[in-house]
Amino acid sequence: MSHNTYRRKRDFSRTPEPEGGRVRSHDRPVFVIQKHDASTLHYDFRLEVDGVLASWAVPKGPSTDPRKKRLAIRTEDHPLDYADFEGTIPEGQYGAGTVMIWDRGTYENITDSNGRVKQARKALKDGHFLVRLKGEKIRGGYALQRIEEGKQEQWLLIKMDDDDADARCNPVSTGRSLDEIEEQDHDQS
Ligand code: MN
Repeated sequence: MSHNTYRRKRDFSRTPEPEGGRVRSHDRPVFVIQKHDASTLHYDFRLEVDGVLASWAVPKGPSTDPRKKRLAIRTEDHPLDYADFEGTIPEGQYGAGTVMIWDRGTYENITDSNGRVKQARKALKDGHFLVRLKGEKIRGGYALQRIEEGKQEQWLLIKMDDDDADARCNPVSTGRSLDEIEEQDHDQS
């Protein structure tokens, strides 16, 4: 896996996004969820797999309710550095709009294959990837299930029914606002 598509879509003389280059991994793979106020507000869900961030755009963001299946559109792999990125992508650039880190942490691959853990890369390829997230807002098991293959893969992101499942809380209604980040960016420039 590489992030050539990621690079091809961006002009790094204009966007503050990282070019990539960090190859060293953490002890545990990381995940990040970035709230992205692009032409359509969405949440970018990213999981470290083999040195890159496998990525999905989740229009409604993650739910903690196992009954709510959230559409997750697979997007290009992003470089690991992207897990630290917050900022405003300027007008005219791919993904123009403000990006904030909404949640971040580590995760464990819990995809089962006959009693053993299936390799994350294989789970992605097979379209069935189970993870246990350890973030600030989002914790516990989530299932990623591919429902449509092709150029733009569609997946579902579903909370697994465990101790961290909670049908009453709505995690996407909290957090630092995008306006605050935009203002702070303006203050710095
Ligand atoms: Mn995005």
